[in-house]
Amino acid sequence: MLPLAAILDFLEQFAPVGLAEDWDNVGLLVGRRDRTVRRVMTCLTVTPPTAAEAIARETDLIVTHHPMPFHSLKRVTDESPTGRLLLDLIAAGVAVYSPHTAFDSAQRGINQRLAEGLGLRGISPLVAGPDGGGAGRVGWLDDELTLAQLIDRVKGFLGLQSLQRVGPADRTVRTVAVTCGAAGEFLPAAHEAGCDTMVLGEARFHTCLEAEALGLALVLPGHFATERFAVEALVDTLSQQFPGLDVWASREERDPLCWG
Ligand SMILES: [Zn+2]
Repeated sequence: MLPLAAILDFLEQFAPVGLAEDWDNVGLLVGRRDRTVRRVMTCLTVTPPTAAEAIARETDLIVTHHPMPFHSLKRVTDESPTGRLLLDLIAAGVAVYSPHTAFDSAQRGINQRLAEGLGLRGISPLVAGPDGGGAGRVGWLDDELTLAQLIDRVKGFLGLQSLQRVGPADRTVRTVAVTCGAAGEFLPAAHEAGCDTMVLGEARFHTCLEAEALGLALVLPGHFATERFAVEALVDTLSQQFPGLDVWASREERDPLCWG
């Protein structure tokens, strides 16, 4: 058993809260710091299936990428989906911690891992932040690849069969921005940084049109794929730091989007 406070100290250092976006809700969201922890589950999102898994497996702490709760609450009752989840987790003594955009932007965070996984060189934050981190990453490829070849790399790294793109498959790719999740807001930053291609979780239709008009290719592996791999990698990070913990990534978690 370990003090929850020790794990929280590590997580707060690994993904410093100061890197989180202003609108975000990160840190310990449910629970008491004076408790002890034996079993930790990581996941992308707290949903009825992942919460049920955590409770069934007597989890002491969920580290969820997406915050829960995210919005302010005026009541916690069984009349709302969030209220039901909170009541169940609290009754079972499960604490909830979310690093969210601090994890996206951390020095060893999601976007850094994505950029390294795609073989980018000279990696730096797309929008610089404190603590050596920052939002997104930008880097270049040693060899000029075609968009189709970069897409093969993305599929290989994230274990995907297919994904969406904007731009001709045979165009040359050299300078790449990487932003996990819903990251269309970073399109102007990628353009200003001189990128010819942007790998992001998802983008709105009009953002895709805007990218096309700017001559910026988009690779869209999906919100789930660009972030779920990182909560799986977080299991290794936590296990190495705290060998006495039983840590796993939710086995029930699925991408709600399916190919029809
Ligand atoms: Zn996300």
